[in-house]
Amino acid sequence: MNVMLPTEGSEALKEALESVDRILIVTHVSPDGDAVGSVLGLRGILEAAGKRAEVVMADDIASKYQFLIDRPVLHVGDPLLSSLTEEDLFQIVIFVDASERERVGSVLDHLHMLLVEGAPEVNIDHHISNNRFGDIVIVDPERASSSELVMRVAQELGVELTSGIADQLFAAILTDTGRFQYINTDEHCLRAAAALVEAGADPSRIAQRIYLERPVLFYQLLGHLLSTIELYHDGRTCVMTMPRELVANFFPDGSMDSEGIVDFTVQMENIEVGIFIRQTGEGVYRASLRSRGTVDVQRIVEAFSGGGHESAAGCEVLGSQEEVKERIVTEVGKWLP
Ligand code: 5GP
Ligand code: MN
Repeated sequence: MNVMLPTEGSEALKEALESVDRILIVTHVSPDGDAVGSVLGLRGILEAAGKRAEVVMADDIASKYQFLIDRPVLHVGDPLLSSLTEEDLFQIVIFVDASERERVGSVLDHLHMLLVEGAPEVNIDHHISNNRFGDIVIVDPERASSSELVMRVAQELGVELTSGIADQLFAAILTDTGRFQYINTDEHCLRAAAALVEAGADPSRIAQRIYLERPVLFYQLLGHLLSTIELYHDGRTCVMTMPRELVANFFPDGSMDSEGIVDFTVQMENIEVGIFIRQTGEGVYRASLRSRGTVDVQRIVEAFSGGGHESAAGCEVLGSQEEVKERIVTEVGKWLP
């Protein structure tokens, strides 16, 4: 497309959308509640504005978020995507909740097959580590969730939210604020949440579906995980580790959902930083870090090429479990006051 576009804000997006009919929406790997709620909500908003919109993801949506799905999302390799004709190709792609293009995983390698040549890229995100990629950038690290930026787009397009879209966007705020408990919880996200309830979102139902229906095996496994807790730095750093063999004992089918376990590492007295380390491959570990406010964990994971927010960040680290733990704990020690 050879048009001059203003590059910032939802107004720029509105202008760009005027000349397109088919919109592709993508988000980060292992989509969390904000990713899922925001892309589904955005798809509904764009459809209400008369566009064709599709979501393509690298990974499946965790079962606890599946109640939010009003229409299936697509995955790389879906027959529907491999049979796209020239007239079906998407004319613009919107990245949501992804701090870098690479965060969308395998979707990135397939974009060229899904998009018309020169299709603009839109970057809607709230990560402080966002590298401002794309032709239109709607990045606001002050917002607690990407869904609040999606709400701005709806406003700009004059789309009224249905109760279904309101549920999706509410779930996004609820999960990215840790049920309105993380330090990113502010008057803006609470106002946005109130507006969504006004539009028909059901906070209690959403919270129940996401938080109160985990399989009993999860809690039995959690018992073992809690006993792996170790404290460092005079009890200010907490580490929990999840060995792969343990997970395989409880969830041999690989359906283990570890989101939220890290929260237990910052729920005791004196803790400043919580670390949850889980094995994802041979010599490959993924770490989730959480801060109670004095330490910026996003700065800590920079040492491991990770990303995230001041109070919640993640990274991948290679080595043995002991090496990985030691490297991260040592890095945390450099930042503790
Ligand atoms: P979690 O610890 O729950 O996986 O992630 C916490 C936050 O950090 C989320 O906002 C997530 O998107 C971000 N994050 C986690 N891992 C990575 C990573 O490897 N790279 C980047 N850029 N962000 C990450
Ligand atoms: Mn988010």
